[in-house]
This record gives sequence, C-alpha cells and structure tokens, in this order.
Amino acid sequence: MKNFDFEHAMHAQMSRRGFLSGVGAVAGLALAARYGCPSLAQLKYDANPFRLGVASGDPLPDGVVLWTRLTPDPLNGGGMPAQDVAVRWQIAADANMRTIVQKGTATASAALGHSVHVEVNGLQPARFYWYQFESGGVVSPIGRTRTTPAFTARPERLRFAFVSCQSWQNGYYAAYRHLAGQDLDFVVHLGDYIYESRIGDNIKRSGTVPEHVRVEPKTLEQYRLRYSLYKLDPHLQAAHAVLPFIVTWDDHEVENNYAASRDQNGSPAAEFLQRRAAAYQAYYEHMPLRRANMPKGPDMMLYRRLSFGDLAQFNVLDTRQYRSDQACGDKRGPRCPENLDPSRVLMGSAQEKWLLQGLDRSAARWNVLAQQIIMAQFARKASLRDTFGMDSWDGYPIERARLLNFLAQRKPSNPIVLAGDSHTNLVSDLKADFDKVDSPIVASEFAGTAITSGGVNPKSAEAYTSDIAGQPHLKYFDGIKRGYVSCTLDRKTWHSDIHGVENVLDAGSPVRISSSWVVENGKPGVQRA
Ligand code: FE
Ligand code: CA
Repeated sequence: MKNFDFEHAMHAQMSRRGFLSGVGAVAGLALAARYGCPSLAQLKYDANPFRLGVASGDPLPDGVVLWTRLTPDPLNGGGMPAQDVAVRWQIAADANMRTIVQKGTATASAALGHSVHVEVNGLQPARFYWYQFESGGVVSPIGRTRTTPAFTARPERLRFAFVSCQSWQNGYYAAYRHLAGQDLDFVVHLGDYIYESRIGDNIKRSGTVPEHVRVEPKTLEQYRLRYSLYKLDPHLQAAHAVLPFIVTWDDHEVENNYAASRDQNGSPAAEFLQRRAAAYQAYYEHMPLRRANMPKGPDMMLYRRLSFGDLAQFNVLDTRQYRSDQACGDKRGPRCPENLDPSRVLMGSAQEKWLLQGLDRSAARWNVLAQQIIMAQFARKASLRDTFGMDSWDGYPIERARLLNFLAQRKPSNPIVLAGDSHTNLVSDLKADFDKVDSPIVASEFAGTAITSGGVNPKSAEAYTSDIAGQPHLKYFDGIKRGYVSCTLDRKTWHSDIHGVENVLDAGSPVRISSSWVVENGKPGVQRA
C-alpha cells in the first residue's frame, strides 16, 4: 500500500518540544474552537496536544488498542474545546511509517477527556507494528506495538515484564527507562498506576507541582490531573511507546485499601461510589483498553483473559471492585471470626467462577493469574507469624483455600501467580495448606517490587528485611529494592529475572538483575536459576 503521510503535519518539532518541556511548563492554549465546530481542518494548536504520549494495549492475534489523549495543557484541564475532535491514525509495518497497513479517523470525545481508543484489527499475528496519530496538523510520537501469536500457534518463546506501584513523588522511573530498552513482547501492569493521596512537600523529583494538581482527587477533573502528572514522565511514556501494556488496577487508582463500595474512612457508599465512578472513568480514559471495558457509572468490567497461542494464557484479575470489606480493620492482625466467614469474597462469585472455568478449559502450558495482592501466607518476620495482612489474600483465607484446592484437584497446567501491591520482591511456593509441611505445592508466585513506591529508604529498614525462616514456602524476599520483573517462558521453563534499581532518586540509575528464578514445566514450585 502506498505511503500515507499526514500531508499537512508539522513534523516532530511540536511533539519533541512537548516531550522535553516536562511538568510545570504550562502551555498556552488558543484553539480554533472559536470558529465553531472544530473539524479536522479547522483545529489549530499552538501547543503540542500529544504531551501525554501514545500507548497500545490488550493485544490479540489480529489487533491491538492504540491510545492517546489530546491535552495541549494537561495540568490545566487539558486545554481542549468542549467539542468532540477528529483524530487521524495510521499503523505501519515499519518503524519509519513507510508501509502503512491501516489508517482511519477516530473521535476524541470531550466526554472522555479527548482520549482516543482505536481498536485495530486485520493485523498479522506475532509481529511488531508502528503507529502514529495526527490532529490539527500535529503528529504524535511514533509508537511500537506487537500482536499476539495466533490462537492455534505453538510459540517457542514469550517475553514480558510486570510492574506495579509507581508513586510519582517517591522517585524517578529509572525502572521504566531500563525496561523500555529490553527485548520484550509486552508489559503487564498490576496496579497502583497512580496514587491518590495529596502530594505534599516531600517530592523526590525536581520541578514544582501546582497546588491544584497536589490535592487528593475526588472528581473526574482531579483524577485526570493526577494521570496527566504521571503520564508527563518521559520514561513512563517511553515504555508505553515501545510495548503494548496489559493493565489492571489495585486500590490507589481510586482510594487506599478501598473494598467495593467502601472507602477506608467509612464514607456513605453512595458518596464513595460517585468518587469510584470518577476514578474508573479517568482510569479508562488513560489506559489502552477496549470499549468492552468502558465504565458504566461506578462499575467497570476489567477482568479478562489474553492468550498467546498454546504457550500461555493470562487471567487478568480485579480483586478490588467486588471484594468484601477487609475483616477486622485494614491492617495486619490476628485471625478473627469474620476472617473465616465463608460468605466473604475477594474476586466475587462471578469472577471466581469465570476464573475457575477458564483454568479448567485452558489448553495453555503456562496459566498466569495477573493480579494485585500477595497470595502466599506471608509475615515479614517470625514475630508477626500469628498475624495476617487483611488487605491481601491472607485476609481472605476461605476464598484462597477454594482457589488453591481447585488447583490441587483440577491441576491446570503450570499455574503462575503474579502480584504487585507490596512494594517487595517475594518468590513463593503456593500450597493448599501453608501451615502443613507435607501439603502439596500447587502453584508458584512472583510478587514484584514497586517501580518507585516506598522510595529509596523504607521508614524502618528492619521492617523491610525479612526473617522468612519458619515459612518454608517463602523462598526469597527483598523489601528494599525498587524495580520490576521480566519473565521469559518457553515450553520447558519459566524464567523470572528480578531487576533492581540502584538509586530510585536518579532517573539515570543503573538497573541490575538482583535474583533469578525458574519454574520447570510440570513441576510446581520455584527454584533458583
Ligand atoms: Fe502500591
Ligand atoms: Ca496497593
């Protein structure tokens, strides 16, 4: 097909300027909105509308979601007129956008913050593509994405990274800088993409943050500002620009430790659900998700399944939206009767049924649960072993036992659990009964540390160096390092490399592999590589 270049596009300069100007550079906005309906031809920007970059996600064998959001003035309400705007897109087989394979026009609707979600299909499986947007004569940076192998394919190898917990004010995204340079097929984000708490004065980055961006978000406008602040980061943009992301959320996309319709302050459910609706919409607006995931009021269907031929199936879970309130308070505590109430849920009955049926039917070699919270029974030290984290799977022992017993009995092929949330690296064998030495190992878990959250010096270093003796199912713990985990899987072996950022206060920090682990096909449990 002949090259279609955005013929009137002003090349690169504007997007480059936006890329480098960073936070605090508040651009002016004079749009052609005053001419009435801002059709493609009439819209004129005097600031780059692609300042939040581009992204792609939820790949299929024949398609992927392309994302951007038009925001010439991201930290001041976006800077767009109150009308819908047309955005052109094109996807190419080469990095220079010479061989265009598809193109089209999408609508950046004002109601969705002028975000753009293009669901491309008709692509070839298991290959890279490049894409670009254009609006008002301005072109976006070029992004790269990748389709999944065909459903019937027998892929030899798959590589991905998983990440979580990227508190903006806790440091720089050196982990993303490093990840963007790795040979990977995709990235899985396990939640805490933003943090909702007020941004105080303890900001471990240069630059200033305006007061209206610091406030704890409760409204849609405020959540949009929080995503905008995060997405202005060049290293986060770089990671999104080179790999498709498969995302799920944890609590901080809405509010710390929230459970379904309950926040941590016990606000009336109706009031909190309004906030949740705003938070979910802002999440949808800023993530490369499909229309099927679009929120409906305070509800948003996020759990879903992605396949990579017969090599791997990813069950992406949502352990926040449907869960029973944490038992006996949100903090760590001893078992209490409420803990053991069989009616309490974490995934919720519909999602649990969906998960178990999917695992039962799966023909994939590696069956991944991509989810938020640590599943292994876990205490940071021996003296805490009679207490349990009420916000993680330890706080939902009945549902956990149901899942682990299912794995023991039905034996889906090689279950691997991924977790975020804890800001620690924890590598574990998962057992039907963690307190019984002879209880069989039924799955393996990799909990990955934070991109930044927790910062460089945890409050009490002692609390973050664990004595895991006496918990033989726990094989490795590191509560200090920030970073991410990359995984390479083939037909025989799952290999996880834990990457540690040397100094999270330095955007250029070295990132090194601090520990490597494998799981062998057909043999549940982790082993040192
Ligand atoms: Fe977190
Ligand atoms: Ca969390």
